[in-house]
Amino acid sequence: MIIWQNLTAQQQQQLLARPAIADNQQLSAGVEDIITQVKTQGDRALFSLTEKFDGISLSTLKVSPAQITQAKKALSTERLAAINTAYEQIKSFHQAQQPQDVVVETRPGVVCTLTSQAIESVGLYIPAGSAPLPSTVLMLGVPAKLADCARKVLVCPPDKNGQLADEVLVAADLCGIEEIYTLGGAQAIAALAYGTQTIAPVCKVFGPGNRYVTEAKKQLSQQVPGFAIDMPAGPSEVLVIADGNSNPAFVAADLLSQAEHGPDSQVVLVTDSKALIAEVEQALTQQLAQLSRRDIAEQALSQSRLILTDNLTTAVQVSNQYAPEHLIIQTENPKALLAGIRNAGSVFLGAYTPESAGDYASGTNHVLPTYGYSKVCSSLSLADFYRRFTVQEITKAGLAGLAPCITELTDAEGLDGHKRAVTIRLEPEKAQDIAQ
Ligand code: NAD
Repeated sequence: MIIWQNLTAQQQQQLLARPAIADNQQLSAGVEDIITQVKTQGDRALFSLTEKFDGISLSTLKVSPAQITQAKKALSTERLAAINTAYEQIKSFHQAQQPQDVVVETRPGVVCTLTSQAIESVGLYIPAGSAPLPSTVLMLGVPAKLADCARKVLVCPPDKNGQLADEVLVAADLCGIEEIYTLGGAQAIAALAYGTQTIAPVCKVFGPGNRYVTEAKKQLSQQVPGFAIDMPAGPSEVLVIADGNSNPAFVAADLLSQAEHGPDSQVVLVTDSKALIAEVEQALTQQLAQLSRRDIAEQALSQSRLILTDNLTTAVQVSNQYAPEHLIIQTENPKALLAGIRNAGSVFLGAYTPESAGDYASGTNHVLPTYGYSKVCSSLSLADFYRRFTVQEITKAGLAGLAPCITELTDAEGLDGHKRAVTIRLEPEKAQDIAQ
């Protein structure tokens, strides 16, 4: 247990610092090398890198329609129904986010519009290193479908038999994704950015991934003109704010659900109740023993922080300073704390709102900024699959009304050409036209 007010400001900052990404230079050089191989050798590099990092020699990268049909047959009715329910839930929340045009006549004869258009081609990265994530297929595929992106390309690393999970294929099919490649890691992102003989490049890549994937997204978005990424979504994190009324078993279950994601998952509890910390510690030991991914969760928990604060206001301040990806508030009156929350990717209110609900099926998106980026980045939403642009249309009279303002400012900036583009349209012989 860590007592927050016993720490200096510097110690508090250190306590909430994310672990530095190990061997940063080595990571960056390794990913750079992978990118160069894909750029120069295309498909040949994709096959050899898959053999090296995924331990499988593939004969083809593209998934065939027959494999999707087979996947549908292989899944139980219950599994198919669950995928369908999650799809409908996510669709319902994202459908309501359809962008509306903003049209404003800023003065008579001057009409300005803000409108949106779907991004033409999108790449969806589905992690599968430690476990395939069909839920991520829905989180990326549903908004891509709703936005009506013309080309949707899904990439996902192969399992040890060179296959993609049936659930991943079925979810992709539901989202209308027709191009699916058995390919993961930095090499998949490089293929989507530069293109190869088999995979045409896309405009924007979405999706979480491990440090190789995240580093590749970062490097490629800086080096390939016009290639964009959604956000830096790395190892997952949760911060729980709880009080003496919280159910320690629920709190422990939430911390463990995060810890089992990966050894690098971040797990933090902040509470004003010393008794709760002791109870949560006990519940963690009990529940950990029952987890199939116990080893992974144990490693993540060894880095966890259980923090005691004087009161809940300070707990909120700690959370804002940490800026978690997921914030769970399990207190007597969780809504009362919400107004003070500044930085969090997604907020879960109350004892019956586990993170798992948002991870799978409440309807919100589970692709969220990590590593403190929730201070500036938003959770993934339908808007990310669109680009916004403006349109303006001005009548002669509208331009005449704006001209004094524009020409005064062009004079201030010494841009005669800009001034002429206005005055030439308003010369005296044209005045009668303007009046009409
Ligand atoms: P992954 O698909 O991201 O990575 C697997 C790939 O990494 C492999 O295909 C392989 O090609 C490559 N790789 C493995 N070792 C390598 C090496 N030494 N050098 C180069 N490449 C190598 O799957 P994962 O590893 O399970 O990671 C998924 C990550 O996504 C986790 O950290 C998880 O927490 C995170 N995640 C985040 C969110 C979010 O919204 N932020 C959501 C879900 C998952």
